[in-house]
Amino acid sequence: MDPDRILRVDMTTGAIFTETAPAKYRFLGGRALGAQMLLDETDARVHPLAKEAKLFVTVGLLGGTAVTTSGRTSFVFKSPLTGGTKEANVGGQLGHRLARLGYKALVVSGSSLNGWRRLDIDSEGARLGDAADLAGKSNYVLHNELVGEALRTRAAATIGPAGEHRLGAATIAVTDPEGRPTRHAARGGPGAVMGAKGLKAIIVDDSGAPAVITGDRKDAFRAESVKFSKVVLEDPRTHNLSKTGTAGVVKFVNRQNIQSMPTRNHRLGTWEGADGISGQMIAELGEARGGKMLPCMAGCIIKCAILFNDAEGNHVTTAFEFESIALLGSNLEIGPADLVAELDRLCDDIGLDTIEIGNAVGVAMEAGVIPWGDWEGTKGLLEEIRAGTPLGRIVGNGTVHVAKTFGIDRVPAVKGQGLPAWEPRTLKGMGVTYSTSPQGADHTAGMVTARGATTDTLIKQSRHEQLVMMAIDSVGVCQFTNALPSDMATFVSNRFDVDWDDAAVLKMARQGIDAEREFNRRAGFDRDDDRLPSWFYDEALPLPDGPSVFDIAPEDLDRVWNDG
Ligand code: SF4
Repeated sequence: MDPDRILRVDMTTGAIFTETAPAKYRFLGGRALGAQMLLDETDARVHPLAKEAKLFVTVGLLGGTAVTTSGRTSFVFKSPLTGGTKEANVGGQLGHRLARLGYKALVVSGSSLNGWRRLDIDSEGARLGDAADLAGKSNYVLHNELVGEALRTRAAATIGPAGEHRLGAATIAVTDPEGRPTRHAARGGPGAVMGAKGLKAIIVDDSGAPAVITGDRKDAFRAESVKFSKVVLEDPRTHNLSKTGTAGVVKFVNRQNIQSMPTRNHRLGTWEGADGISGQMIAELGEARGGKMLPCMAGCIIKCAILFNDAEGNHVTTAFEFESIALLGSNLEIGPADLVAELDRLCDDIGLDTIEIGNAVGVAMEAGVIPWGDWEGTKGLLEEIRAGTPLGRIVGNGTVHVAKTFGIDRVPAVKGQGLPAWEPRTLKGMGVTYSTSPQGADHTAGMVTARGATTDTLIKQSRHEQLVMMAIDSVGVCQFTNALPSDMATFVSNRFDVDWDDAAVLKMARQGIDAEREFNRRAGFDRDDDRLPSWFYDEALPLPDGPSVFDIAPEDLDRVWNDG
């Protein structure tokens, strides 16, 4: 079945219908498709939680196929955190299932008048049902109830208590291959938007769905997939990810000459406790406790997701990733790994973005709400979010909200979104991406980790990487495949029987970026929003060869999108 259908669900009226996607969306998928649909269908000035706002769930152009990691899903919406366009990209088992049922996009509009609802989608169609029995439940219980034994055919996307409270740091949790809610569409508050619609859970069952690619193209496609998998498996970057996950970079970025381990609300770039939260330490513990490396979706051959057990061998968390470890660990001066893993599990269960919460709690610590390194206090704040207390809602609404409440002016955020772990004063290309991405501070928008490069080079690299990431998020594969535009062009050509080259891939990516920038412009953003907070220009990090600040001039940042 060609995944060219759009499923529309109006939460206000309960109306559900399916349409064939218009021709203009045929070669858009994932993030680019969501960005274009958001621009086409919504008023950029709408309140993100209003019934007039929409939630777009889109699959990549390669969704449902055998290409490794191609089952990623994009959740696109107007962000309650940034006030602009947002895409939260997630692995897990949802994307392939939607694609196999023939859906390119699910569009949720309106807001339930009948309390909490659930949306069930399968080969018979889609149905809205009562979800009063799910209300108030957290993600681990929810995924166990909704997916349980039907793991091989079913996946869920749910909101935990944070989404029910409509908080800016609220995620949408997607089922992993072991049936756990450890994959999150995390950034920008997608859980708040789903919560505002009154939608507690989306459950997709692809039992009996036909193969996505059939006929003449099947063999060529399979041959290309096998070839691509071989290249990915032979890449040394894959070997590292398969051994220690993204956590493997902790020791490297904590070095004195890099200083990219956020510490004390990004005041420092190294932390003395970093070895205790490093990938190597986690791997050692894993060996003794039955930990393992897992794929986050069926068909991923990289398997970068760390399953972390406690000393008794009981599961604590999966997908124990660098960003979570850095923001919930060194940034708060909390370690070793066991303590951070427990915070990560709590965030998964309540439905919280670990990056946003790590920044928000860091600002709260700076304000003296709890002391640095206070693990019990941090757990207490997370439980306050779960319970929806006034303090919990303040922290759960993210970094900027906490800073405003407690009068802190040193706010690690761009366009309202908390900063990832990569330090812009030493990895200046990351600062260029954080500043100029329409997504706000987001490392996945375009990684540029070169050091010592000229401003001109960093501007060009950031633009190129942002376009490549838009392409990757739109074909729907994982960034860790390091897929090149030429790889994507080959797959799209075979998948759709067209003749794409690198230029066609980058043109599609540019359309996506332009749609995002236009939405932000209509929402009221201007070039002054494409900036890092001023303290990154003033507060130096003490590198061995001299103090280092972020020193890329505003007029150079403007060149990212004006020059190319
Ligand atoms: S490489 Fe990691 S993040 Fe990417 S699809 Fe595989 S397990 Fe998921």
